[in-house]
This record gives sequence, C-alpha cells and structure tokens, in this order.
Amino acid sequence: MRKIAFIVFFLAALISCLGQTATKVIALRCGSVFDGRGDSPRTNVVIVIEGGKIKALGSSAPDGADVIDLPHHTCLPGLIDTHTHILLQGDITTADYDEQLLKQSPEYRTILATVNARRALEYGFTSIRDVETEGAGYADVDVKKAINSGIIPGPRMQVATRALDVTGAYPLQGYAPNVLVPHGVQIVDGPDNARQAVREQISHGADWIKVYSDRSYRVRDDGVLDDIPTFTLDELRAIVDEAHRERHKVASHAMALNGVHNSVEAGVDSIEHGNYIADEDLKTMAAHGIFYVPTIFVGEYVAQGRAAEGAPVWVKMIQIHEDTFRRAMKAGVKIAFGTDAGGFDWKINPAKEFSSMVKFGMTPAQAIRSATVTAAELFGMQDSLGTIEPGKLADIVAVPADPLADVSAMEKVDFVMKAGVVYRKP
Ligand SMILES: [Zn+2]
Repeated sequence: MRKIAFIVFFLAALISCLGQTATKVIALRCGSVFDGRGDSPRTNVVIVIEGGKIKALGSSAPDGADVIDLPHHTCLPGLIDTHTHILLQGDITTADYDEQLLKQSPEYRTILATVNARRALEYGFTSIRDVETEGAGYADVDVKKAINSGIIPGPRMQVATRALDVTGAYPLQGYAPNVLVPHGVQIVDGPDNARQAVREQISHGADWIKVYSDRSYRVRDDGVLDDIPTFTLDELRAIVDEAHRERHKVASHAMALNGVHNSVEAGVDSIEHGNYIADEDLKTMAAHGIFYVPTIFVGEYVAQGRAAEGAPVWVKMIQIHEDTFRRAMKAGVKIAFGTDAGGFDWKINPAKEFSSMVKFGMTPAQAIRSATVTAAELFGMQDSLGTIEPGKLADIVAVPADPLADVSAMEKVDFVMKAGVVYRKP
C-alpha cells in the first residue's frame, strides 16, 4: 500500500514537473523587431514564448517569465537556407571534390556534417534544405534524425538524399574505364529507372528529390548561357510525376538555357542556381509558383579558382547571373534564399549571400524576407515558420545592429533560438 502511495506521489510530482517545463514562459526583450511581414522594424518589443511557440508580442514581460534582454539588438525570424550541403567541405576545384569522395569514408564525412549542422545553427539558420549528400548516401537522413532526437544541435532539416543524374554527367569523371570510382549522385537512365530511384530515395527518407538538369556551360555570341541538358524531357517528367504522386517536391540544379527550360516544362518545384533563365521561362515560373534559388555568393567565390583551372566561363557567368536575377525580380518570380554552403567552406558564413542579393538589386528587407517568409513557403511550412507572430514556432535570431541599414549585419547573428530553445546568446 505504502509502495503504491509512493508511486502515486512520484508520478504526481513528475507530471507537475513536466508541466512546468512545458509551460515555462520566456520573455525576449528586443531593441527592435523585424517580424518579416512589413518593410520596417518595430522598436522596444517583448516577444512572449511558451511551449516552443510565440504566444504574443507586447511591450512588457508577463509576471514570472524568464526574461532575456537584448536592448540593442534587432530580432528577426529564424533564417532559412534552402540550398546547403552539410556533407561537403568546399569544392572549388575538381581535385577538392574527388579527394573528399575518394579519401573520406561516408562515416567520417557524417562526423564532419554534424559539425557543419551546428555551425549552420550558430550562424542563425534555424532551418535548412540540404540538397543532396554528394556521394555520402543517406547520411543526411541520419543527421536530421539525430537533430530531431535532441542528440546533436542543428537546424530543422529537409533533405534530398542522393540526387539523380544520367550516365557520364556527374563527378567523379575522367578515370580509366576499368577503374570503379564513386559518384556524387545516383545514376539513372530512362524514365522507368528514374521513377524507381525516386521511389527508393523516398522510401529511405528523402523529403525532396534533387535532379541535375544540365552541365558543360558556354556563353553564346548573343550572351545567352548555353548548356548540355542531362535528362531528356521524358525522364524529367517521370521524376517529377513520381515525386508529386508521392507528395514530395523536386529541386532542379539548372544553371542555363536548356536545363532551366526542361525543368520548368517538367514542372519542378524549384530552380537551383539559374544563372541564365529565358524571359519565357521566368513567366512560367511566376505563373506556376516555381521558386528561384539563385545562390549568388558561391558563384563569385568559386569563379576565380575554376577560371584558373581553365574554365573562364565561371567569371562571365556572374554578370549573366545578375541580369537574370534582376529580370526575375521584375517578372515577379518567388526568390528563396539559398547559399550552396558546403560548395564553399562551412567556416565562411553563408549569410554573405544577403549582401550578394542586395548588390544584385534587392532591398535589405527583400533579401531578409527571401530567407524567412519566402523560404518558409518553399518549405511548405508558412503556417509555422518565416515570421514573428503569435502561433508560429519560436525560431528567432538577433543581430547587434540594424540589418535594414547595412545588410552585412546578417553575418553577425549572436542570438539563436529554435522552437523556444536558446542555442546561442551574446
Ligand atoms: Zn548545390
């Protein structure tokens, strides 16, 4: 009897204790708040957080709340990077890439990925879409699982697992035909095989299907960036149809004329890089809500290295990219913030992309919205992410400056909260 009474008492104590953690109220006092909805910030705002969600925005902290004071900071919605590679450590040259696939085991690369995930979160990216593991199999699914289980710190993740490309199109290339080398993608040829690969990747945890739609770039005399499309339109259509049938989305690496056109025709959900996009295709993208993820900074970053390696086209591509970006803005295409972090070293803050977007014609507010509101929509999570308003998840970051005056302040995030949990404090 006594034993039972003790157990009842113990359970009651445990429940009340759990109840307390679940209802713990945090009051975040911000010098100003850019909530992601309008163009200008509001000053002296207290964000009230309860149970991992934003409960209210007011002018004073409720009684008994844990107060976090950031009187000289601008608070913003948690940032979302919609194009990362946490399994990659920078690949300016072919040798950099081959070295990682040939000399690092997937297990070792996964250990490095956990460090990159933590870096992403500390830079202020509370959510990332990781668009393929570059030869590390399904390791992204495991990193995501470890983050969701609270084993390692990291952003909320949507993952694309292995990506798809056709025979002869994706590294590693150039080895003797009798030498078996790993590839950075799952190689598929023909609509049926492509469909099977989509099913396989989804069954192993892919949120997105990533395809490489073009390669081998050259600038034509009329200034158009030309390419060799990888998949046939039939193959691309099969991939998109299968993914959509299974309620998944397709991200297409497409940098130039034909790759973009085929992807748009096949009905993909996002165009990655899009250095050149024809006006006709921009019109279709705007009409169908296809996202444009321009990844400007990485292009600037790798250009010199790749030019030195004998591919000067990468330098010319920057100007073409700027022109496309400005035309996309005018056409009303939804532009989502994405960096290709991992394509450059994770020690470089991917938030440099904000300055690149502003250089290409966005206002700081537009650039920040591309990494919050628009990116949340690309995630399909616009109801819970992307703005600071009651009912949304408490993903909040802060910078000790005014990013609307100088957007490079986005590289100085020193406060990070994800779903109400603080990961970084000034
Ligand atoms: Zn990429």
